[in-house]
Amino acid sequence: MTEDKKSCLQEYKLEQDNELRFEVETKGEKVYLTLKSGLAEIFGTELVKGKTYEFTSGAKVAVYTWQGCTIEVKGKTDVIYTAKETPMIIYSNCHAALEIMRSECENDNKRGPIAMVVGPQDVGKSTLCKILLNYAVRMGRRPVYVDLDVGQGSISIPGTVGAIVIERPASIDEGFSQEAPLVYNYGYKSPSGNSKLFSMVMDQLALTVKERLEVNKKTRHSGVIINTCGWIKGDGYRQLLHAGHTFEVDVVLVLDQERLYNELVRDMPNNVKIVFLQKSGGVVELSKSARTENRDQRIREYFYGTLKNQLYPHSFDLKWSEIKLFKIGAPPLPDSCLPHGMKPMDHLTKVVSIIPSPGILHHLLAVSFAEKEDEDIIYSHVAGFVCVSNVDTERQTITLLSPQPKPLPNNVLVLSDLQFMDSH
Ligand code: ADP
Repeated sequence: MTEDKKSCLQEYKLEQDNELRFEVETKGEKVYLTLKSGLAEIFGTELVKGKTYEFTSGAKVAVYTWQGCTIEVKGKTDVIYTAKETPMIIYSNCHAALEIMRSECENDNKRGPIAMVVGPQDVGKSTLCKILLNYAVRMGRRPVYVDLDVGQGSISIPGTVGAIVIERPASIDEGFSQEAPLVYNYGYKSPSGNSKLFSMVMDQLALTVKERLEVNKKTRHSGVIINTCGWIKGDGYRQLLHAGHTFEVDVVLVLDQERLYNELVRDMPNNVKIVFLQKSGGVVELSKSARTENRDQRIREYFYGTLKNQLYPHSFDLKWSEIKLFKIGAPPLPDSCLPHGMKPMDHLTKVVSIIPSPGILHHLLAVSFAEKEDEDIIYSHVAGFVCVSNVDTERQTITLLSPQPKPLPNNVLVLSDLQFMDSH
């Protein structure tokens, strides 16, 4: 080992209820962490003693210990410190309260608690969801994770809402296993992109999640944890109320903002428990560019995988005649021209057939399971996504980057507003 690397090796002794927080910012930098003694966890996932975990740039991590532990960290971190004040006991109490509700539901064979985590941007909403899901699954539960965060969500790619059944704790570097996710295409990176469409897609997801809870007893008793996005004002707030209503939530965990807490107490039905929680001092604010980079990274990983688990996407041409391409939303008509019975807002969710053009270059297309060419396209979940890497108007073909080889599972493709510049 070179002298330089040796100097980067540090040992940290944590007392009980302490947290070691660090960030890796420098591109290409790798930080290695090993639990030497005691017990520790990262966002609810237990560390295996003696195993070395690797972190790359962008990692913002907290190693928490209930009992005390010794940790070795090798490599250059940009920030590293031990925090004695954490909200972990409060978060663990939340888990305990949900667990009591689950046990009661189990006894009465009822649906377990549906909890929704809300709050502004960068308050640790996704992290709290992860902690609660990890704790639940460590107790032998099989909860459903619903992610409504279309900008920074962790199921599928940005611009979607989705659900997965959590069967094992998140892996430290890869997160929750993404086997058989249920994904609906929305197509914008913010719920404000098309608010009406967002509500429709959310309703459909809620319906399907409820059906899943019906058919699986263990999942039914375990309930659902819902993550939301940080848009909490105006229409964003109304979307939160709508989500609460459509998913029939029992508990809302409000992180950080008392104003939002009070509004929800005022506007949510009385039988919904609204709980205010402090955010962790460790939560790191993301800059706008970091958010964009995260989104790109997620799409890149969708096609190319991660360093540890590389994927090799396919590229192929399809004739325009082989696909049916749609977009959602038509230009508005003046009120006087609206067909009988059509409301002025209806154009926002109109399914419109389109012909490929250079304008769709680099756009993602959802491969829909829809069988009919109508609203079914909004209500159907998706098989996956492809990205348009070329449009040849002379030969009337498009070139697609796809996780799967030809043929696609269905020829109904839906244009997403999201783009991906493939630099491979
Ligand atoms: P939100 O979902 O509210 O936008 P996140 O849960 O995504 O917030 O948290 C933002 C970032 O802060 C994430 O990169 C996460 O890993 C990091 N983070 C969360 N809690 C802690 C903590 N206790 N210590 C260090 N980093 C944290």
